[in-house]
Amino acid sequence: MFKPFSLLLLGLLLLSCSETKDAASSTPPNILLFFVDDMGWQDTSVPFWREKTAFNHLYQTPNMERLAQQGMKFTQAYATPVCSPTRVSLMTGMNAARHRVTNWTLHKDLLQPMETGHNKLRFPHWNVNGLSPDSTVQYAAYAKPYPMILQEAGYHTIHVGKAHFGAIGTPGEDPLNVGFDVNIAGHAAGAPKSYYGTENFGNTERFKDTPWPVPGLDTYHGDSIYLTEALKREAVHALEKPIAEGQPFFLYMALYAVHTPIMADPRFVEPYLAMGLDTIEARYASMVASMDKCLGDLMDFLEEKAIADNTIILFMSDNGGLSALARGGQAHTHNKPLSSGKGSIHEGGIREPMLVKWPGVTPAQSVNDNYLIIEDFYPTLLEMAGVKNYQTPQVIDGRSFVDLIKNPEPRDQSRPLYWHYPNEWGPTGPGIGAFSAVRQGDWKLIYYHDKENFELFNIKEDIGESQNLAAIEKSKLAALALELSNYLKAVDAQMPVHRENNEQVAWPIDRVSSAIN
Ligand code: CA
Repeated sequence: MFKPFSLLLLGLLLLSCSETKDAASSTPPNILLFFVDDMGWQDTSVPFWREKTAFNHLYQTPNMERLAQQGMKFTQAYATPVCSPTRVSLMTGMNAARHRVTNWTLHKDLLQPMETGHNKLRFPHWNVNGLSPDSTVQYAAYAKPYPMILQEAGYHTIHVGKAHFGAIGTPGEDPLNVGFDVNIAGHAAGAPKSYYGTENFGNTERFKDTPWPVPGLDTYHGDSIYLTEALKREAVHALEKPIAEGQPFFLYMALYAVHTPIMADPRFVEPYLAMGLDTIEARYASMVASMDKCLGDLMDFLEEKAIADNTIILFMSDNGGLSALARGGQAHTHNKPLSSGKGSIHEGGIREPMLVKWPGVTPAQSVNDNYLIIEDFYPTLLEMAGVKNYQTPQVIDGRSFVDLIKNPEPRDQSRPLYWHYPNEWGPTGPGIGAFSAVRQGDWKLIYYHDKENFELFNIKEDIGESQNLAAIEKSKLAALALELSNYLKAVDAQMPVHRENNEQVAWPIDRVSSAIN
């Protein structure tokens, strides 16, 4: 017969056994972040709007459809209008106004020529060196990137493809310095010289002193292989180790595609040419199809390895589809019904095709219309990985969207989202130019630094941003201008200076009275 003490001991033993069992059965999920470059909201056969558009009929992305069928589609996911600000927000959880990597990075310590040569504005010395894990690097956003935290939590972290979050000659240019165990083909540059193995991805005598040749893929030099395919093969190869060892992995699959140069993937271009599409557009469509094939191959691989049920897949792009230049057809129309494209604060520049499949969590074929922004990925990925109580030197602006995934019904939309671009991109067009902007609920206010004027749109009623309501909805304009100004001041955001009088561009709130009177 057991005495009370023995029963207690037995109970404790059973309790401890069951705890061990629970811990063992809750293996951390693998995470695949499939991150496309410059892919627009409409560059897919998955409809992200209320109806299927002409672009949804044109672009064939069966594997995105498959992912959407298995998981959740986000219809209002935002990034910033250009590469590096988005990528630094992704890596740090900070808004661009705070991290100050507000334009795309390349050369150490230097503003780019289109900024130094601007005829009306003198731009601030933003963090041109990008992200830095080292606090001593000047003109850099010092932060602890989330891959480091995943590493500390036991994840095997793999970077494949385009990095573009640190300038040449700074620690942030190398993914190995920001928390990745493996880096395949990532460096400071934001575009490949060539997508073709037959051209060594740009590694030729002619371009050897430029930043654009893709590093680390020597195995494929001279082969008839497309860059996206080579990256996929290397990713699969890199996954073998953690899968064999039963270690959870984080794969950041950051394609160079569909960024310029617009070079056809020969495997996919013929059908688009045959349908009579403009040659450039046919090439572009083949790059989209090639991207989709890569996604599908990775999904197949996870299924073959029987780990699909414990692997979260997130699909996202880093800015809107290119439309201001280098495309066939009419500029600023490639993201319709959205206005404009890459480089613009109009929806075409910032709204992204986003999908999430979280086995056992995301209901199949579900749709989430709540809005979110790129810095939200930082706390989300860590929460998905089960990492809690992490410490960072940076303030994190992002909010985890795990709760939005678990409860996808429309929420209170009082949260403001902010964009800040005291910079010059180059081309001109709708929504392109130095600006600050806020979205709250259905409303978006844009403040242009050059003319210190506003655009106010009701995004729900006018997704194409054709009706500027700044002169009509005066109280909405004033409220959003205050909200935006307060945030910019709170994070000590940088503003340009007018060349003609050496005065700093006014805060939005200080231009409200002149705008509405
Ligand atoms: Ca980009």
